[in-house]
Order: sequence, then structure tokens, then C-alpha cells
Amino acid sequence: MPSPQRFAALQQIQRRRPVSTPPSAGLEQLWASDVFTLETMQSVLSGNVFESVQRTIKAGGKLDLSVANAVAEAMKTWATSRGALYYAHVFYPLTNSTAEKHDGFITPQGDGTVIAAFTGKLLVQGEPDGSSFPNGGIRSTFEARGYTAWDITSPAYLMETPNGVTLCIPTVFVSWTGEALDKKTPLLRSNGAMDRQARRLLQLLGETEIAPVNSSCGAEQEYFLVDNALVALRPDLQLTGRTIFGHPSAKGQQFDDHYFGAIPERVQVFMQDVERQLYKLGVPAKTRHNEVAPGQFEIAPFHEAANVATDHQQLTMTVLRNTARRHGFTCLLHEKPFAGINGSGKHVNWSIGNATQGNLLDPGDTPHQNLQFLLFCGAVIRGVHRYGPLLRSVVATAGNDHRLGANEAPPAIISMYLGSQLEDVFNQIREGQLTGSASGGTMTLGVDTLPEFTKDPGDRNRTSPFAFTGNRFEFRAVGSGQSVAGPLVAMNTLLADSIGWVADQLEGRLQAGDAISTAAFAVLQQVMREHGAIIFGGDGYSSDWHQRAVSERGLENLPTSADALPVLRRPEVRELFERQGVLSAVELESRFAVYAEQYVLAIDVECRLALQMARTQIYPAAVRYLGELGGALKEQQAMGLHPSLALRDRLGALLHQLNDGCDALELALGAKPHGDAVAEIRHCADQLMPLLGQLRNAVDGLEAVVDDGLWPLPTHGEMLFVR
Ligand code: ADP
Ligand code: MG
Repeated sequence: MPSPQRFAALQQIQRRRPVSTPPSAGLEQLWASDVFTLETMQSVLSGNVFESVQRTIKAGGKLDLSVANAVAEAMKTWATSRGALYYAHVFYPLTNSTAEKHDGFITPQGDGTVIAAFTGKLLVQGEPDGSSFPNGGIRSTFEARGYTAWDITSPAYLMETPNGVTLCIPTVFVSWTGEALDKKTPLLRSNGAMDRQARRLLQLLGETEIAPVNSSCGAEQEYFLVDNALVALRPDLQLTGRTIFGHPSAKGQQFDDHYFGAIPERVQVFMQDVERQLYKLGVPAKTRHNEVAPGQFEIAPFHEAANVATDHQQLTMTVLRNTARRHGFTCLLHEKPFAGINGSGKHVNWSIGNATQGNLLDPGDTPHQNLQFLLFCGAVIRGVHRYGPLLRSVVATAGNDHRLGANEAPPAIISMYLGSQLEDVFNQIREGQLTGSASGGTMTLGVDTLPEFTKDPGDRNRTSPFAFTGNRFEFRAVGSGQSVAGPLVAMNTLLADSIGWVADQLEGRLQAGDAISTAAFAVLQQVMREHGAIIFGGDGYSSDWHQRAVSERGLENLPTSADALPVLRRPEVRELFERQGVLSAVELESRFAVYAEQYVLAIDVECRLALQMARTQIYPAAVRYLGELGGALKEQQAMGLHPSLALRDRLGALLHQLNDGCDALELALGAKPHGDAVAEIRHCADQLMPLLGQLRNAVDGLEAVVDDGLWPLPTHGEMLFVR
């Protein structure tokens, strides 16, 4: 029998019914109905103004003020006709969150009346008081000016809350001195860098008509749903997003019965509600399913231009969290809410392409003959090998440390999976003999009525952090709560740099009189000889690989954020970002400082909360039980029985462990170094996290023996299976 509070929560859950939502309109009516789309603009703007906007979106360049004024007026008319009283510049600070500054359209007229007004200047530029956003030392608080500027490539939209509508305008966020304080600015710059270098390479390949090259992203979001009645009894879920204590449930994911299983009704209703809102916001949600762990689910959109996909991904996280609350759930985006079962990632599917040449990472059926693909893919191989540690560092967060390297998520060693066909083609290149591509072929299923399947030429590899999946790469190490911007910036920048190198080499060889195919082959051979060590098709989870990756391949294993974050300070990383014009040295250093601080803060909160819970919830419950047990043992002895004292001794030992664990953790918290970011993150990884683990062992040990009727915290089993 669970404790009375838990019992009441479980009863509340039993009584819940799916939240009814209004019947859904068809997809065509819903689609982008809350977005100020290009079509909407075209219908309300004059021809000249619209063309000017379109030019800026497609080819870049400045928007002049008269155009901005016309767009602002049209946007305001559209938004106010839909009930908006406020507009907000939405921006993406370095914390993975979405920030907004709201302003009313209201403009007093001096005679007691007001009108709704909105000008080009207000549309294009805002000035939130930026002083409280982490900036990693770029500005001191007395130099607080920060500006937001409209990103015309990402459409404005309406956010509905029960009480009203707000016009949201996606923006970049920069300091008074022009440094990027956000995640969008470097993403836009990295796209620009990639565009410049990719065009060079396409020109060398003889292309004459080349549309702007952009990166695409489709991000698969994993999340957990836990009923609010149970979350209310878990301070750790409320404050840290994960359970810092909790004995594993007897039933976890060992039956593999949840993955792609039938979606529970309450959850399905929640998902439909989420999807309806996303469709209205123009977010192309496409796939939904149960994930591996009980209580875990996934939502994936159709891929879009990386910049828009990133804004849409942030919106998806917001909509998931807000909608869950309405359905009586808490949506956990933490990377490892429950020890012992799978955590949540965000697989970032990424490719580059344009309107004229299409997807530049599409191998076609005969990749060995596809020079364009081979060169772009070769550039990825080189970039990922040279900057693998950078890819590790951009997924380094306190939450993701629990996931990377565990037997469910890609290891903390960055390697690359190509699939058998491409691995073979690139090995042929290395050996200097390019003979052909193995094909996938067809698969007959032995049942006449079933169609023949065409097989993909390469299988999947779930254990690889960076895997080629047919026409794109899937960066699987990204954490579920992270913004996808950082990973995309890293991928775009290292690829831009590598494409630039390939183009330089080709130019040299072409000038020396080589034919393009000879030159390309030689460059690719060099890539494979110098960087082929990054390619690995085996089991990335095996300990054998973890050893060989380091000893034989020379790859780096960076198990914790304390190992990975300092990569951002390496000279070669600084030079990479400077060379491509994506981040200045100051901007990069500020990112290191902010991410290090976030890591330290997250672990500090967890440790302090663990102390509090252990002392004020766990210890009292355990001592109460020990008292009851002592009384019962005494009675048995009085009856002349000789009861076993094993449980009493075990409880006593665990209580010692708990008290010692608390004292040690408290001492270590007090001994925190100050002022040196590297020492601080090391202290977290080397001192605090192991001590937190030891304290957890004591608490979880107690959970296994203390009377369930006295245990205050909902169990993992209750949180994962009751809904
Ligand atoms: P899986 O779970 O099998 O990897 P999903 O269908 O869940 O696949 O997700 C695949 C994601 O990859 C989707 O978001 C999809 O839109 C995206 N994607 C497909 N093609 C590309 C591409 N060329 N570039 C970027 N993303 C892509
Ligand atoms: Mg998937």
C-alpha cells in the first residue's frame, strides 16, 4: 500500500479522462493559419514591396525602411484582426530557452484616445533589457544594451494563450557592440559560410546556375510524460526535470513492449492537441510514436531550412510543455529523467542543398560515379574527423552527460557511420581503385501477396553518434532539451571549412592541368588516407570500441562536459570559427563561459536539492520505519521468538550511509572553487557527481526496504506506468 499522499495521487489519475478538445478542422484549414506567410504578405502588400521582401529572403541584403514600414503595417492589421493586442520580439539566448519581450500596439494620442500602431522601425529592431541574460562576460551589467533584429527568413506568427493573442517576431539578439548574444545569429552566419564555400565547389564542378545553398534540419524530439499528480510529490522533477533519487522499477523496458506500441488514449489526445497547434503555427509535425522506455514518446517534423527548423523546434518544445499541463501531464525534456531506462535525445537530421542542384548529400544509385556527392561527403568525413571533439562539446550539458556513453545513447566518442555501400566506395577510393557501388537490391518476403521491397544499400546503426542515413547525416548525440542551433552551427561551420579546403585543393590541381575527375579522385584519396579513421560501422556501445577508438584510431573520448566544454577554447576551434566568420574569439569564449556556468548551476541545484530531500523526506521516513521495526522486534523477543535482525542492521547501515553521504556532499559543495571556470566544471564532474551518486545509492537502497506506506516519493514504477 503506497503512502496516503501517493495513494491520493494515484486515485486522482484513475479518475482522469482524456481532455476533450474541439473537433479538428482539416489539415488545409489548419495549416499555417496563425502564420504571417509569404502568401498572406503577397495578398496584402503592393507588388513592389512584396518583391523587395522576397528578394531579401532569397538573396539576403538589407530591407529598406519604407519596405519595413509597409510590412509592419500589414503585419499589424493582420495580427490585430486576429485579436492580437501585443507583439513580441522572440529571441534565443544561450540557455536553450526561448525569450520574448512583449510590447503593446497601444499608442496614446494625447487626447485620451489610443490607436494601435506599429512601425517598420519597431518591427526591425527592438531593445529588450538584455542585462540579465547570460553573456559570458561580453558585457558587464552596466553596459546592458542588447538589440533584437527581425530575421526576415523566419516568418512571424501568432501565439494564442487562453487570454489573448500575441504577434511573435523571430529575431536575432546582439549586444550594443555587435556581438551575438544568441543562438540564431551564428546559425545564420554558418549558413552563409556554407553557402559561400559550397558555391565555390559547385563552380569548380562546372555548374553555372547555382541557387543559394542552405542547410536543412529535421529534429526528432523524444520526451517523457508523467502525470502532474505524481510530479507534485517529486521536488526533483519540479526543480531539475529529472529524478535524482529512485529505485529502478521491477518492470522497466526489458519486455520491449512499449516501443512503437499502441499509444495510450490520454497520450494520443494530447499528441493530437499538440499537432493541431503546430499545424496552425506552420510546423510540419509528421511522425509520432512510443519510444523505447515506458512513458516515453517522440515527435518528428518534416525537415525544413535549418534556420526555420530551429525556430520551429523551439516552438515545438514550448507547445509540448504547455499542452502537457492542460492534459494533466508534465512533459519532461530532460536527457535522463529516470536512471536505468533509456533517456531522451534529439536526433538532428541534417543535409545541405539548393534549388538548382538539389540535396548535395544524395548519393543516388551509383555513388561511385557521383563526383558531386563524393566531394561533399568527403568534406563531411574530413570535417567530422578534424573537429569531432567540437561536435562532442556542442552536446555537452549536465543532463546529456547521463546519456552519452550509457548503453542506449551514442558514446562520448565521435565517429561516423556511412553504411556498407558507401564505406566500401570510400575504401576503394583510399586504395586507389574505384570499381563500383554495391546495390541494395530487392528483398522477397516469401509471400506472394506482399510487394517486393527495395532494400536500402546501407543498414542503420543506432550506436553511431553521427550516421549517414540515405541522403543526410543524423547527429544522434544531441540532448532532448537542447536547442538544435549549436549542433547545426558546428556542423555547418566544419563542413564549410572542409568544403573550402576541398575547393582549394581542386583549384590547385586544376591549375596544374589535372582533369576534374583526376583531381577529385586525388583529393578524396587524401581525405580518406588522413581522415578515414573516423569511419566506424561496428557496435559503438561495446567497450572494445571505446578502447580501440582511442588507442588505434586516435579518436578522443570525452566522457563528461568537464572534458568536452574546454574544447571550445582550443586554438584550432577558435581559428575555425574565425576563419569562417561564424564566431569571433570573444563570442566563442563567451559561449564556453555560459555553458560552463550552466553546467555548474545545474549540478549545484541538484546537489542542494538532494541534500534537502535526503534530510527532510527520506531520513524521517526511514527513521520512522526503523522505530516501528524496533518495536515489532522487541515484541517478538518478548514473546520468546528469535526474529532475524538482518533488516534492522541493513536499515541502520543505510542510514549511516545516508548521513555520511549528506555530510560529504555538503562539504564538497562548500569547497567549490571560484573564479576559474575549468576548475569549477572539473569539481562538478570529479567531486560532486560521484558524491551525489553515492548518496543516491543510500536513498535507493532505503526505498527497497522501507515500508511503502511511509515512502514519500512516487516510485519509478508509478511515474512510468500509471496514466
Ligand atoms: P528515423 O526515426 O527512422 O530516423 P524519422 O522519420 O523519425 O526517422 O525522422 C527522420 C527525420 O529526418 C525527419 O524529421 C525527416 O524530415 C528528416 N529528414 C529526411 N530527409 C532529410 C534531409 N534530406 N535533410 C534533413 N532532414 C531530413
Ligand atoms: Mg525516429
